[in-house]
Amino acid sequence: MEQQEYIHIAEENLIHTYNRYPVVFEKGDGVYLYDINGKKYLDFGAGIAVFALGYNNKEYNDAIKAQVDRLIHTSNLFYHAPLAEAAKKVVKASCMDRVFFTNSGTEAIEGAIKLARKYAYLKDNRTDHEIIAMHHSFHGRSLGALSVTGNVKYQEAFRPLIGGVKFAEFNCLESVLEQITDRTCAIILEPVQGEGGIYPATAEFLEGLQSICREKDILLIFDEIQCGMGRTGSMFAWQQYGVKPDIVTMAKALGCGIPVGAFAAEERVAKAFVPGDHGTTYGGNPLACAAVSKVFDLFEKLDLVEHVKEVSAYLEAGLDTLVEKYDIVKERRGKGLMQGLELTIPVGEVILRALDLGLVLISAGSQTIRFVPPLIITKEQIDEMLEKLQKAIQ
Ligand SMILES: *Cc1c(COP(=O)(O)O)cnc(C)c1O
Repeated sequence: MEQQEYIHIAEENLIHTYNRYPVVFEKGDGVYLYDINGKKYLDFGAGIAVFALGYNNKEYNDAIKAQVDRLIHTSNLFYHAPLAEAAKKVVKASCMDRVFFTNSGTEAIEGAIKLARKYAYLKDNRTDHEIIAMHHSFHGRSLGALSVTGNVKYQEAFRPLIGGVKFAEFNCLESVLEQITDRTCAIILEPVQGEGGIYPATAEFLEGLQSICREKDILLIFDEIQCGMGRTGSMFAWQQYGVKPDIVTMAKALGCGIPVGAFAAEERVAKAFVPGDHGTTYGGNPLACAAVSKVFDLFEKLDLVEHVKEVSAYLEAGLDTLVEKYDIVKERRGKGLMQGLELTIPVGEVILRALDLGLVLISAGSQTIRFVPPLIITKEQIDEMLEKLQKAIQ
C-alpha cells in the first residue's frame, strides 16, 4: 500500500485529536527513521523525548523479546523479578525511597496528586487542600493532570476540573507566595517546561520554592517526565540545581518505547499510601519492568549522561549560530539535549520543509522548534541536522 492509502484509512477510523505529519514510518535504526518507501529521516524528536537509546538497540530489543517469551503480565497481586529489579534501579537513580509504576506520564501525575493530598489529609483531616501549578505547564490530559496544566485552551471545554488548583508564574517566586494558603499541600512544576516552549527554571526559583516548602511542610513535586532520564545532562534535572523534590514523576524515556511511567517519593511521604489507596492493573508489569531495568543498565553501560553533557554543548553552540545568522530565529533556550529555538513566525512550515529534507523536528508551542534527539546523538549527526535545518529555514 502507498503512504496516502494508510493515511486515508487512519483518518477514516481514528478520532481526530491530532494533526499528523504526512508520513508513515516503518522502522528505525539508531537515530534514523525510515518511512514505508525507504526514505531515511534523521530524528530529532525521538517520539517526543522517548527513545533515548535510539531505535533498534540490540540489547534492549533482546531483553524485551526474552521477557515476552517468559511472562508478560501478572497483575500487582503478585511479585516478579523484573518488578523488584526495576524498582531498585529507579529508587537509586532518583535518590528517592519508594516508587509506584504507572502506564503513562499522565497517570504518574495522577498518583503524585493523590499522594500529596493523602499526605496532607493525614496531617489535618481536611478535605479542601490546594495545589499550586504553573502557567504554561503541561502535565497530561486526564482530568486530574489537566487540572494542573496551565493552558486554558486545553481545559476550557472540559470543566469542571478538579478543585483546589491555583496557578502561579513560572520563575516568579513572588507569584507563588501570593497563592499559598494554610490549605496548600503541594507545588507542582517541570524543572524545564517542555510543551510550554522549553523554559528552564532558574536556580533562585527552585531554591526559593524548596525553602518555602520546607518551612510550611508543603510537598514539592517535580514533573521530570520529559526533562528527566539524562536528557538535561544529569539523570534528573533537579540534580543539577541541587534542589530535591519530595515527589518526582517520570515516564517518556523511562521505558524507551514500552509504555511505562512512575512516581517516586521520599519515605515520609510514600508511607501516606496504604493498601487500597492506589492501584493499577497493568502498571509495572513484567514487560514494562524488563524494559525499565534494561534502560538503566544501558544508561550506565553507554555512559549516556556524560555523553549528553559533551554533545549538548555542541548542539547549543550550533543553534546559537542560527540565532545570529537568521532574522527569523529569535532565541535559543534549554538544557542539555532539551533545546528550543523560538522563531518570529509559526514553525509549522519549517518543520514540514525539514521533513521533506529528511529531518524530523517537533514543536513546543506555535513558535518554538523543540530539539529532543535520542541521547546517543553524535556531533556529526548534529551537524547533519543543522545543515538540513538551515536549508529548511532558507
Ligand atoms: C508528556 C508529558 C506528560 C504526559 O505524559 P503521557 O505519557 O503523555 O501521559 C506529563 N508531563 C510532562 C512534562 C510531559 O512532557
